[in-house]
Amino acid sequence: MINDRKYNFSPGPSELPEEVLLSVQESLLNWKSSGMSVMELSHRGKHFSEIAETASSNIRDLMQIPDDYEVLFLQGGASMQFAMLALNFLNPENTADYAVTGQWSKKAFEEAGRCAKVNLSCNTSESKFTTIPDTTSWSLSENSTYLHLASNETIAGVQFKEFPKITNLVCDMSSDILSRPVDVSRFAMIYAGAQKNLGPAGVTLVIIKKSFLDKASQDLPQMLAYKTHADTESMYNTPPCFPWYVLGEVLKWLKTKGLNQVFELNRKKAAMLYQAIDESNFYHNPVEPDYRSDMNIPFTLSKPELDSVFLQEAEALGLLNLKGHRSVGGMRASIYNAMPLAGVEKLINFMQEFEKKNA
Ligand SMILES: *Cc1c(COP(=O)(O)O)cnc(C)c1O
Repeated sequence: MINDRKYNFSPGPSELPEEVLLSVQESLLNWKSSGMSVMELSHRGKHFSEIAETASSNIRDLMQIPDDYEVLFLQGGASMQFAMLALNFLNPENTADYAVTGQWSKKAFEEAGRCAKVNLSCNTSESKFTTIPDTTSWSLSENSTYLHLASNETIAGVQFKEFPKITNLVCDMSSDILSRPVDVSRFAMIYAGAQKNLGPAGVTLVIIKKSFLDKASQDLPQMLAYKTHADTESMYNTPPCFPWYVLGEVLKWLKTKGLNQVFELNRKKAAMLYQAIDESNFYHNPVEPDYRSDMNIPFTLSKPELDSVFLQEAEALGLLNLKGHRSVGGMRASIYNAMPLAGVEKLINFMQEFEKKNA
């Protein structure tokens, strides 16, 4: 147990499991009697190789990643992937489709547009990103190299519950990776910055199908080419060793729970919070129920002048970082895998008390 630990509802970097923090603490001074901190290990030595390989095999196991996919551990965050993806796969002769269902997929689309000509397949900005239209209404180009989407929009709180039945899907899963089982074989590539649901900031996971990787450009600076990182097992240069290690600890923690159980709990936490919001006349979530995120739950108060009081009182109770994104306003509760049920229950109790006092 960690003393005075609070509930952190931050969208990212976000709460890590307590068990993981404790095991990381232990490894900071002397990694497995090596006489070195885990942070001091050579990335080419046997200790770190074991850490790297275990993380890789655990992620393959948890996500049931088929053998014809590479798993890469890169730097630069998900934002770097917005550019790398376009640089590796687009050229003046081809194009890609982009579904814009929130602020992050919009950024991905705009960034790709700096590198190539890309097609906007769907855009929900007019609804303020509160719904996802059926794929039959999307405009898809004929010779698209891939279709990009973000499975969960961290800011507006919209989530794909099913993925479009389209080939060469590329998916930004930064804020819901490993929150639920997904069929990896449906995707050409999946990527995720670690700092939401996988670990600390500084490492980015890329899962890429080998036949898709074969189509990547070779005519790029080495660091920007997926092939470089695939050919060197993500050790072309010094990898982000420490975040990679912590990510590995998160995966071990997930394996003790099992992904299906984690998914069940995530659904339960989200359903409880949405129910509390919907049953009140004081709190409001604007997202169409079918597409509501299980991870990030924005809500507004019917008296926005009380926002700062709400945040102060929440913080005093140990409920941290509930302030919503400026583009949506109000509050946002990010309840990733590491958020215990008790944290969500405490938040709901507080919300109900606050409503009684102030409605
Ligand atoms: C946070 C986030 C990003 C940006 O991640 P960085 O690692 O900070 O670049 C991209 N996409 C989604 C869905 C996110 O939640």
